[in-house]
Amino acid sequence: MHSFSGKVALITGGSSGIGAATALRFARGGAKVAIAARRVEQGEAMVRKIEALRAEALFVKADVSQRADIEEMVEQVVARFGRLDYAVNNAGVSGPVMTPVADVDEAGWDAVMNVNLKGVWLSMKYEIPVMLRQGGGAIVNMSSIYGSKPSELGHAPYCASKHGLVGLSKSAAIDYAGTGVRINCVSPGYTRTEVMEGAVGAMPEFFAATLQRHSAMKRLGNMEEVAEAVVWLCSDAASFVNGTVITVDGGSMARAY
Ligand code: NDP
Repeated sequence: MHSFSGKVALITGGSSGIGAATALRFARGGAKVAIAARRVEQGEAMVRKIEALRAEALFVKADVSQRADIEEMVEQVVARFGRLDYAVNNAGVSGPVMTPVADVDEAGWDAVMNVNLKGVWLSMKYEIPVMLRQGGGAIVNMSSIYGSKPSELGHAPYCASKHGLVGLSKSAAIDYAGTGVRINCVSPGYTRTEVMEGAVGAMPEFFAATLQRHSAMKRLGNMEEVAEAVVWLCSDAASFVNGTVITVDGGSMARAY
């Protein structure tokens, strides 16, 4: 297991799902862990879980679509822990589904873009200067298999946001290459989280067919499997890995049949 002793990790969207699993994985590796999200009860419950692993924890209530919240989020992490080594910009929303492009309304489009794309840009805007002052750091932005291929779920705003996130991350990686700050993406395939369980429960036949097509391994991914890729990208083991996308999808993207 990588040792993150003395290091500080911030995970946006750490109140549930993949972000929560990533926060716990960093805590098990010895990092001090800050999570940011909107739901206070879930955020505080995560703090207790992280502390139960004998790691220091901080919850910051923040809406990543709001610039002031993000500025405050990073300030709070630095005020509490004195530094920021790893930032996982994971907060994301699905937005309109089963909605063809011309039927998407402006509010639906903006809601997805403001969290999934603008929120990640804003997060990096405040995270990167802290890392530059320290002489290094690692950022992982959470994209999706739908950051590299179209979604057949009538899910274009999400798909566009996750494609945009890949371009944003690669460009940022080049902007800061040589500074000690590395920036990469993780792109999960269908992963078992509460949100996904709800969607599968609501449309079991549709998802069974979708999974049959998408998962070469014939199963959903686990949150912990995604978290492992995130922490590896942050670790020194990935010291020459920059501006890339690691896909954690059981082979979905490799499958052309
Ligand atoms: P969850 O809904 O469990 O996690 C989403 C997290 O984002 C929550 O912690 C939520 O916290 C937070 N969040 C949402 N909107 C905001 C906001 N405006 N400000 C701050 N935090 C916000 O879903 P997942 O764990 O599945 O998703 C995590 C990431 O992984 C997302 O970016 C998603 O697109 C991506 N992904 C997931 C896949 C899957 O199959 N599960 C597949 C591919 C990618 P709160 O509500 O408390 O604010």
